[in-house]
Amino acid sequence: MQGVGFRPWVYRHAVALGLAGFVVNGRDGVIIEVEGADAALDAFESELGADPPPLASITAIETVVLEPTGENGFAIGETDQGDGPAVAVPADVATCDACLAELRDPSDRRYRYPFINCTACGPRYTIIRGVPYDRAVTTMEGFPLCDECGREYRDPADRRFHAEPVACPACGPRLTYRRPDGQAIAEGEQALEAAIVALREGRIIAVKGVGGYHLATDATNAAAVAELRRRKVRDDKPFAVLVARIADVHGLVVLDGDAEAELASPRRPIVVAPVRSDTGIATGIAPGLAEIGVMLPYSPLHTLLAEGAGRALVMTSGNRSDEPIAHEDDDAVARLGPLVDALLTHDRPIHIRCDDSVIRASAGTVTAVRRSRGYAPQPYPLPVPGRPLLAVGAQLKNTIAVAQGGSVVASHHIGDLDHPAADASFRQAVSHLCGLTGVRPEVVAHDLHPGYRSTQYALELGLDLEGVQHHHAHIASCLVEHGVAHRVLGVAFDGLGLGDDGGLWGGELLVSDLVSSTRVGHLRPVALPGGDRAAREPWRMAVSWADAVLSDAAVADIASAMDERWESVRALARRADTPRTTSVGRLFDAVAALAGVRTVSSYEGHAAMELEAAAAGGRELCDAEGVELLSAATGLVLDPAPLLARVVALRSEGASAADIAATFHAGLARGVVRAVGELAGELDLDTVALSGGVFQNARLTSLVSEGLRRAGLRSLVHRTIPPNDGGISIGQAAVASARRAG
Ligand code: ZN
Ligand code: ZN
Ligand code: FE
Repeated sequence: MQGVGFRPWVYRHAVALGLAGFVVNGRDGVIIEVEGADAALDAFESELGADPPPLASITAIETVVLEPTGENGFAIGETDQGDGPAVAVPADVATCDACLAELRDPSDRRYRYPFINCTACGPRYTIIRGVPYDRAVTTMEGFPLCDECGREYRDPADRRFHAEPVACPACGPRLTYRRPDGQAIAEGEQALEAAIVALREGRIIAVKGVGGYHLATDATNAAAVAELRRRKVRDDKPFAVLVARIADVHGLVVLDGDAEAELASPRRPIVVAPVRSDTGIATGIAPGLAEIGVMLPYSPLHTLLAEGAGRALVMTSGNRSDEPIAHEDDDAVARLGPLVDALLTHDRPIHIRCDDSVIRASAGTVTAVRRSRGYAPQPYPLPVPGRPLLAVGAQLKNTIAVAQGGSVVASHHIGDLDHPAADASFRQAVSHLCGLTGVRPEVVAHDLHPGYRSTQYALELGLDLEGVQHHHAHIASCLVEHGVAHRVLGVAFDGLGLGDDGGLWGGELLVSDLVSSTRVGHLRPVALPGGDRAAREPWRMAVSWADAVLSDAAVADIASAMDERWESVRALARRADTPRTTSVGRLFDAVAALAGVRTVSSYEGHAAMELEAAAAGGRELCDAEGVELLSAATGLVLDPAPLLARVVALRSEGASAADIAATFHAGLARGVVRAVGELAGELDLDTVALSGGVFQNARLTSLVSEGLRRAGLRSLVHRTIPPNDGGISIGQAAVASARRAG
């Protein structure tokens, strides 16, 4: 991969040993040709394996002996793109240890310089405008190197040899502290100091980071956190917290080994993990949840802020509610100015917006929730190679992907395409990713839903179209994760996706490989009263499910306590023209409302997340079968009627929300395992892929996979590719690629 300093590193070692030749990036790895004395060649080979640069990982070294050509000198060659997507630019990389040491060294010329970087660290994906990767095509173009930086940049022996974003206080970007109306108040170190003082005083400031703006405040100041929530119009959505050191993280959350390694990796995602008690963090950070998201500084600026503030800081995306985050300076003043007391900005432009990545570490498992800054552009091997293509993803949590030959490269998180501002971001992402990878798509893979903005975009392109059913794409993304191309039983549970039959699917049992997918079972369908409103107001799904499985008297009793409009919603649910859905996401909403956990959501997945949180520490109060298996023309039907009746009975008996939630999770998981076991036996399949946004639920995922293991089945779960709609583009790419193979 380019931009990790591997070719300069090879150059330095070759030149030091007096060897001639060249180094280039090839499609399958780096190609080095060296010519010189035997001893020097031997030394070169052993140094190559012993001491690679920090971001490079060498999987294998193959050596071929060639005739000497009498070459002189050593050169770094252009990239040989071969026939796969050339990932010409790596992800943005957190500050390396060598740069951190300089940042803290008062005698260094980059002491406390917030834009320090080298070949091993710094921004990449977010600053590049074109390829080949060179300073002139990055947003550093407007910063001519000073003499000293120029010397480092040109010196093969220097750590900053060909570090494209190299900069120093004399020649590089500069901080500015601004009033909410955009007027500059302070520059450079004084701007930094002003921001630190403001944070310590409990003020709310906008901070320009690597991929966009954050809103920041003191996470230990309850009044400041409440004020931020009020200004951002973000009722309950959790905020992430930035701390300076890993020791600070241990004071806040419980981390297992894998999660800690990922948190501290150069990718620096937000890791969502179980929160400890008495952390000093304001409870308003993550209302109703037992987990919080923490992160370590991913840029020198964040290091200086976190160390300077000396306390945990809220770092939440710089937007109001669900808008795309701000990344352009004028836009930030316009949109964020009214929300903040000041802005800490700088003059290095962000070419492409890139949100923080999020990983969930719970119940001993680590699952990607959002792969964006630090990961994008992320390549994955494709089980079946195919023609050059673009996959445009879904509507919510949108990502796109390009594929060519044997690999697929996924973009950053583009977000919800419902928002008018998302359209431009989506188009920019397509040209950015195609530009960086050199893929010229011949095929475009898309969801079957005609209302998705991404589908409409695909239809505009005039390329070969490949429609991929939503839940097939989910299962395919899980197959990519595990490098599996054979037929599996797929369990796809999510919010909603358009089915092959035009129905609103979301609780599907599929027999899938990468080419095709057949529905062999599903959740019992119920009315979806009120479309999108049913997702935002879980009590509507509770009325729908209650009406489907309980007596009229029981429905009246339960529903009247939830919302006074219940009778009109029940009437809507009973109408023949109200759409029906098999969504397990909506089943979770219904149960959250029936269990008394939440009747109205303020963000996507809110009720389901709280239901899972509520189950922590709860006991299963009844282990009778809660899900009946029925057979219908459409396949095996999972009917949770007995389980819902039990939830309602437990509530009326005064059972705790924890016990009700635990009972529901356990009962549903057992029903799924039994259904899958039956189908696997009938169809002679032994591998089960679990995908869809519902499998962000760590409790359900571990109960189901444990049950499958006991039943002698192999389960494939998500780890690096999000099980939610953020993974859809990868699944679409894998299916389209396999269908167009050969
Ligand atoms: Zn560095
Ligand atoms: Zn300089
Ligand atoms: Fe989905």
